[in-house]
Amino acid sequence: ERVISGDVTNFDERFEQSLRPQFLSQYIGQEKVKDNLSIFIEAARGRNESLDHVLLYGPPGLGKTTLASVIANEMNVNIRMTSGPAIERPGDLAAVVSSLEPGDVLFIDEIHRLNRSIEEVLYPAMEDFCLDIVVGKGPAARSVRLDLPPFTLIGATTRAGALSAPLRDRFGVPLRLEFYEVGPLTNIVVRSASLFEVAIDEQAAVEIARRSRGTPRIANRLLRRVRDYAQVRGNGNITVETAQEALEMLQVDSHGLDHIDHKLLTGMIERFRGGPVGVDTISASIGEESVTIEDVYEPYLLQIGFLQRTPRGRIATRLAYDHFGYAFPAGQDY
Ligand code: ATP
Repeated sequence: ERVISGDVTNFDERFEQSLRPQFLSQYIGQEKVKDNLSIFIEAARGRNESLDHVLLYGPPGLGKTTLASVIANEMNVNIRMTSGPAIERPGDLAAVVSSLEPGDVLFIDEIHRLNRSIEEVLYPAMEDFCLDIVVGKGPAARSVRLDLPPFTLIGATTRAGALSAPLRDRFGVPLRLEFYEVGPLTNIVVRSASLFEVAIDEQAAVEIARRSRGTPRIANRLLRRVRDYAQVRGNGNITVETAQEALEMLQVDSHGLDHIDHKLLTGMIERFRGGPVGVDTISASIGEESVTIEDVYEPYLLQIGFLQRTPRGRIATRLAYDHFGYAFPAGQDY
């Protein structure tokens, strides 16, 4: 298991529920998203209407599921959760939406993985709050129209680009979640530590935040590991020293990079003179799938400026050369 992956593990799930903020005021960071949402929520509540459909997109672990629950709480409605791959047939979708109460939120995680035939059934549900489903088979088959209560669909995806245009266009409120700065991430670590009832120094929280790749899920995961370390090797309190030692032991460097990032970037530098090199070539040389590189490793490396995407391929930047202690080749200008 990769300690700095944004993807959820079973182990995370056990803790995440208890760490989830309930209301917008407890949801740390993402100020632009919160400003927008609070206006739309207040307006919808003022008109006594359901909130427009919301699309949340951004890398894994940034708080999309959490935000969907927060929205439902703020609207004072129930939330039903499902995911793209879980809805295999139109009947699966019908079963979920027909159980909704007026104004409820339907959350579909990984909405880019819905198959096209389900999407077609979803369009009228989103637009006119009705479902056209075919019942029966062969000559006896007939189409039945089912009226639905007004509801809010919240779709979450790590790949907004993989959504079909007609589906994307049906979301009135598309919101992009960004990687968190160290400040808000530090606050998330401090908040989680207080929920875990463990004492933590401010500087230790900063240290954990710095190495969490801008991602709350990673911050909470590192905090749990550091807490274990502090309990076994120290007196249970998390000081900056225990945090640093624990993170060193986990082999997460000062920028939150691990051995796979090292392999990816030093491989580019050593074998391809820093690029440009195509993602498929990188994939073959480090033995990771191209989509994993694009969805999981690259977004953060691009964000911190270690990698650039160009039409001719990926490039390792001067920052990456400096970080790994390589001399930057003369004549390159990035
Ligand atoms: P995925 O896309 O993998 O489902 P996600 O983006 O939906 O991930 P969440 O499960 O919502 O991520 O969040 C991961 C963890 O981070 C949760 O435990 C949540 O409590 C915490 N978290 C996320 N965002 C915030 C925030 N803004 N403030 C406090 N805690 C947060």
